Amino acid sequence: MLKPPYFHHALYVDASQCNGCVHCVRICPTEAIRVKSGVAVIESDKCVDCGNCFRVCPVKAIKVEQDDLSVIFNYPVRIALIPSVFIGRFPNEIGTETIYGALLKLGFSYVFEVEHGVGIVAAGIRSYISNNRQIRPLISSYCPAVIRLIQVRYPSLTNNIVRIKTPHDISAVYCRKFFEDQGYQPEQTGVFYVTPCAAKIAAFKSPVGERKSALTGVINMDFLYNKVLSIIYQERDSIIAQEFQSPPSEGIKWSLARGEVSCSTVRALAIDGIHQISDFLDKLESGQIKGIDFLEMRACQEGCPGGILTGGNTFLTVENMERRAAVQSNGCNCQVSPLHYYQDYLSGQNSLSAVEPRSGLKLDQEVDAAFLKLEALSKIELLLPGIDCSACGAPTCHSLAEDIVLDKGNISQCPFMDLLSLNRGQISPADALDHAESVWTGRIKD
Ligand code: SF4
Ligand code: SF4
Repeated sequence: MLKPPYFHHALYVDASQCNGCVHCVRICPTEAIRVKSGVAVIESDKCVDCGNCFRVCPVKAIKVEQDDLSVIFNYPVRIALIPSVFIGRFPNEIGTETIYGALLKLGFSYVFEVEHGVGIVAAGIRSYISNNRQIRPLISSYCPAVIRLIQVRYPSLTNNIVRIKTPHDISAVYCRKFFEDQGYQPEQTGVFYVTPCAAKIAAFKSPVGERKSALTGVINMDFLYNKVLSIIYQERDSIIAQEFQSPPSEGIKWSLARGEVSCSTVRALAIDGIHQISDFLDKLESGQIKGIDFLEMRACQEGCPGGILTGGNTFLTVENMERRAAVQSNGCNCQVSPLHYYQDYLSGQNSLSAVEPRSGLKLDQEVDAAFLKLEALSKIELLLPGIDCSACGAPTCHSLAEDIVLDKGNISQCPFMDLLSLNRGQISPADALDHAESVWTGRIKD
């Protein structure tokens, strides 16, 4: 089994901008954030890079790491691997041939749409489902935030993840092979995936189920969209429109909610939104859900158009993609996929290895000690007010109790407990003020 050395994260908090408002603490599906000394801190072993904290931060203190676009010029062959959601983001009056032309003008030497890889991936999933009848439901490997959520919160379900690559991974493998066959050395080809979300940046930096990604780099879609749009508006006359081949209609819709399920021939269910997914997986893990063969799960509402780096209006993007798919299915769908000529090679490269559980909460490695800590946790929880106000900097009273038994928190963080101690004369007003300041301002008594 492959063991990635760490969980790379694409999101980080800019402490100079954070005001400790706890919006992010309360929305995080894995309870990965605490406010300490007035600043949000993300716990690396719990974060799944879903991007919910980024969405809700009112002062934009949560940032996404990104590489400089100039890195593409380190490669003689510079491929922009774009998902169909990127095309769907543009206003109707801008044609796809112009978008391709603008990408070349920016410096890419080749543009390739990710969803050409859907045919190979869909065939791989179908055969995986039929060869693994003893495991139900099987869970799509498409969304990296969902994969991490399962690793961290539902380790018993890791074996349910379909061990088949995503369309962007298989398309990246194709691009590499194609240029190798044209006589280029592997290190001369740069394959840059344009990502709609932070989870795919994180998955590229610490891949799950494979030793190394076939990608060279990942580019923030919102950043690239703005670059391309400004070229189109400012230099339209000098853009050379490019002929292109659209992916098939089912490929264009693959990243949408229900995109995978609509191609499925078994009993399949699609769920979008990380909190809805968590609710469903809770029920699945406790044996309340039966009879489903396949689960498509997208951490973002509406699938990739809802990604934090897609920008723009999610629903307009969905509508654009559906219209493009409809045009494809109305007669323009006759071209053979470029990947067709490499089908055998790519089918052989389509598998992932097992996904390893990575539990984000271990009270203790030793069973006896873990049991004692669990008992202590329950007792502390009974003392706490149980209103989950987050004034302590933790998302819930349960999570504060957990922090306390793990020596990462203190009961004095709870303002209600502090008030009680103050009223009982157990602490002084100055102590109570110091406790509050340690959560909210970082000014701790000498
Ligand atoms: S990216 Fe998601 S899991 Fe990570 S800290 Fe933000 S909300 Fe929590
Ligand atoms: S949402 Fe989180 S990161 Fe943003 S200001 Fe509030 S506490 Fe800080």
